[in-house]
Amino acid sequence: MSRVAIVTGGSRGIGAAVSKALKAAGYKVAANYAGNDEAANAFKAETGIDVFKWDVSDYTSCGEGIAAVEAALGPVDILVNNAGITRDAMFHKMTPEQWNQVIGTNLTGVFNMTRQVWDGMRSRKFGRIVNISSINGQKGQAGQANYSAAKAGDIGFTKALAQEGARAGITVNAICPGYIGTEMVRAIDEKVLAERILPHIPVGRLGEPEEVARSVLYLVAEDAGFITGSTLTINGGQYFH
Ligand code: NDP
Repeated sequence: MSRVAIVTGGSRGIGAAVSKALKAAGYKVAANYAGNDEAANAFKAETGIDVFKWDVSDYTSCGEGIAAVEAALGPVDILVNNAGITRDAMFHKMTPEQWNQVIGTNLTGVFNMTRQVWDGMRSRKFGRIVNISSINGQKGQAGQANYSAAKAGDIGFTKALAQEGARAGITVNAICPGYIGTEMVRAIDEKVLAERILPHIPVGRLGEPEEVARSVLYLVAEDAGFITGSTLTINGGQYFH
């Protein structure tokens, strides 16, 4: 049997590495993305993985997107809630738009997706949900009150839902990456990265997207049924929680 997986934000960065690792391990994979058609089409051409465009912050679009994936690949067994954005600002300058966009994608998006695969997983008595949170949801980060709140919310959501899914064969876990070398991190000013971020990472480098992907594989495995409600930190030793 080949399980079906959706990876939100699965066409770039960490999500792309997760999509590729799942495919290589024999899963049927649908990679969702928001709007960067060029990147998504290049990803599809490179990997042969089907890409599906919808905005995770919109409940109805998520339902339509999931239906399209299920029509193409079959019922969804695995959901990796990876889509995420930043809209950084010190709090005294943060706008309601910056707050709402980040909460809408990084937290409400996780609800929108999970809610609409949940009933199917419950009825089939199997599900694997992995929520990509962040070190900054664990420790908080100045300039990211919106992002830290959303990512901390993802951890609470994970713990609550793990309890609800346990008897139905559904595991729900969170991964908290530290600084991983994707476009999101490369957008950080080089001087800030060199002087204020790298010195705090004991391993002395950024993480690789593939290093997050291998943990997703571990958590979604058939024999990972006793791992639920956990928060896995992957941060080069930067912060322990
Ligand atoms: P990238 O910016 O490289 O890629 C983001 C992906 O998410 C893209 O595929 C993008 O689609 C998609 N996306 C963004 N918004 C939406 C939306 N509303 N609906 C659907 N898809 C969307 O991000 P990263 O790979 O760096 O980050 C992935 C996840 O990991 C995020 O949740 C992030 O918060 C988290 N994380 C990242 C860390 C890092 O160091 N990079 C550290 C800790 C956590 P499109 O291409 O169309 O824009």
